[in-house]
Amino acid sequence: MSEPLLDIRRLKKYFPIKSGLLNRTVGQVKAVDDISITIRPGETFGLVGESGSGKSTVGRTAIRLTDKTEGEVAFKGVDLYALPPQELRKLRPKLQLIFQDPYSSLNPRVRVGDAIGEALLEHGLASKDEVRDRVLDVLSLCGLSSYHIDRFPHEFSGGQRQRIGIARALVLNPELIVADEPVSALDVSIQAQIINLFRRLQETNGLTYLFISHDLSVVEHLCSRVGVMYLGSMAETASRDDLFREPLHPYTKALLSAVPIPIPKLKRERIVLKGDIPNPANPPSGCKFHTRCPFAVARCAEERPEFRHVGGERYVACHLV
Ligand code: SF4
Repeated sequence: MSEPLLDIRRLKKYFPIKSGLLNRTVGQVKAVDDISITIRPGETFGLVGESGSGKSTVGRTAIRLTDKTEGEVAFKGVDLYALPPQELRKLRPKLQLIFQDPYSSLNPRVRVGDAIGEALLEHGLASKDEVRDRVLDVLSLCGLSSYHIDRFPHEFSGGQRQRIGIARALVLNPELIVADEPVSALDVSIQAQIINLFRRLQETNGLTYLFISHDLSVVEHLCSRVGVMYLGSMAETASRDDLFREPLHPYTKALLSAVPIPIPKLKRERIVLKGDIPNPANPPSGCKFHTRCPFAVARCAEERPEFRHVGGERYVACHLV
């Protein structure tokens, strides 16, 4: 088995809750609470869970776009959080983020070619003479035309803007892309095109993805392994095939029961979860899922289940598994 490209160990990210005239810290939101993930080169690891489960914070912390509270993140064996700022800056092109809404990160007055090329100049990866050719190459790779280089962001459709977002990341020749809900805002037909683009770029450029999504159908289509997050913790990780064939954690079962399956005979019983995801500033005791779990027993409210290896590539945090 190859060495991990990204190795996240026992990562925690807590946000302080401030209050009062003196702005004192009165609590913490445990957005990420003891998460471990390894991602191998060329792999697509999907991270799923409801809104508020901490997926995006994992993504940002995994490439040190925000500080961690505890834990380690190693990229190709290098501890990202131990790197001095100038070393991190050198590594930055290799670690890219693609957002759900690339439009918000594009200056409406800057032509798309300049928006894509500026990072090349900023990181000293191309001379002014070379930039245009590099941008034209990456536009073509992302399915855009050469004349798009002189257009402004408002002249593009949602799908084309997402292609621009991908081109901006890709022009830096990254090795790891954190894609945070990159197709959620797109129509289904455009989603398919962008997912195929992600796949093609993985084959041609050897990219590795941490793919964050609340959409299990998209994750099933694209990812080779999947992690299911609940309230800042990992409930289950498994290969895509194992997870979709036989989910083990009750939360994974509930999420999957809501996904339509193409073969009507294979009807799955829908598990409807009670209530909303609890407040991460005040998570339930024991297993964080016990307030909504249809299988909870007395022990679940008292004891936090260990995230255990249960065979193959599967880890589960549940007393009953
Ligand atoms: Fe449900 Fe208990 Fe398992 Fe948590 S530990 S998922 S509450 S059965």
